[in-house]
Amino acid sequence: MAATVVSKNKHGADQGTCVHLGNCDIGCDVSARNTLDLNYLYIAENRHHTDVRPLHLVDVIEQLNDGMFRVHFDELKNGERVPGTETGRIVILAAGSLASTELLLRNREVHRTLPKISAALGHHWSANGDFLTPTAYVTRVVRPAAGPTITAAIDFEDGSQGRQQFWIQDGGFPSLAVAYARNKTMDPSASFKAKLVLGALQTLLLSTDPLQGLMPWFAQGVDMGNGILTLTQETPFSEAGKLHLNWESTKSAAVIDAIISMHKRLAAATGGTVLIPPTWTLFRDLITPHPLGGATWVKRPPRASLTKVVTCLVILGCMWLMVPLFHDRWE
Ligand SMILES: Cc1cc2nc3c(=O)[nH]c(=O)nc-3n(C[C@H](O)[C@H](O)[C@H](O)COP(=O)(O)OP(=O)(O)OC[C@H]3O[C@@H](n4cnc5c(N)ncnc54)[C@H](O)[C@@H]3O)c2cc1C
Ligand code: SF4
Repeated sequence: MAATVVSKNKHGADQGTCVHLGNCDIGCDVSARNTLDLNYLYIAENRHHTDVRPLHLVDVIEQLNDGMFRVHFDELKNGERVPGTETGRIVILAAGSLASTELLLRNREVHRTLPKISAALGHHWSANGDFLTPTAYVTRVVRPAAGPTITAAIDFEDGSQGRQQFWIQDGGFPSLAVAYARNKTMDPSASFKAKLVLGALQTLLLSTDPLQGLMPWFAQGVDMGNGILTLTQETPFSEAGKLHLNWESTKSAAVIDAIISMHKRLAAATGGTVLIPPTWTLFRDLITPHPLGGATWVKRPPRASLTKVVTCLVILGCMWLMVPLFHDRWE
């Protein structure tokens, strides 16, 4: 395998060339991906002298009488939590879909420092219609652990497949995922659902080289966006104030089933056999790396989805969160 070539990218950051290590999902070993530290954050720090402070964990955000905001954080330093605060006129909250929502819920309901936040907060959470179908190729070598994780996509946003909108992508996974899955099959403490999924993949995992013939097909689709995030109440068995998702995934079954049907067609056309995760067929459970929404101020559901919109949220997510902090109530 060729060695990476590191050179300055157009923003001046050191960036390597892709050497097909297949670890895109868990962090590129040679910094070949266009991650924010090599573009937006790099420009913010180096051109606009933004003060970026890693390992600062925010908890309380309070609005002061003069309209300013005070943010309380703990700096994680030498194994200790060192408390601190900063005060500013504008707070842009961009802690991701789950953590942004949790922070706002906690500040409204536990710390009571942002009491005016809309009752719509926590609503319209979406799993982005994500679905992954492992597919076994017995007569073909597909090598999913080599090369970038996604290299192509088919766009079905035209509604031609049962009026559902989705994208299909060729997936991949890091080679250590196989070692992890093999260890997990022998772990007696693995959950029942984990054992079910691993059971379905057993024959492949135990073959000499599962990385030759197991490829995951990926998809994202426009789902119902009907998840509701709240904080737990205290019970004799559980703590109060933990983020809880109430999400009826059956309402998104139509788009997921359309995706599975297309995965089956593509697998058959390329000589593969799909292994539909029993966690979906039996329990209607889904997993997403693209959580969306939740930090909502309006009742209108954010129906837009798909990867290209997720990409926009990376940059713009903070802006749609920012607005309501300056208005008393948006509904
Ligand atoms: C395996 C994987 C593969 C993916 N592949 C793709 C892809 O190919 N294309 C695509 O478009 N998207 C992809 N995504 C999704 C994409 O990474 C996310 O949508 C995106 O990173 C979200 O950006 P964000 O800035 O909103 O949140 P995040 O990237 O989650 O950033 C939130 C930040 O806030 C910090 N934070 C949280 N709580 C606190 C707190 N209390 N105090 C201080 N800081 C806090 C977190 O540490 C984190 O750094 C992928 C995601 C995963 C997990
Ligand atoms: S395949 Fe992915 S992880 Fe590997 S070098 Fe290329 S970008 Fe990095």
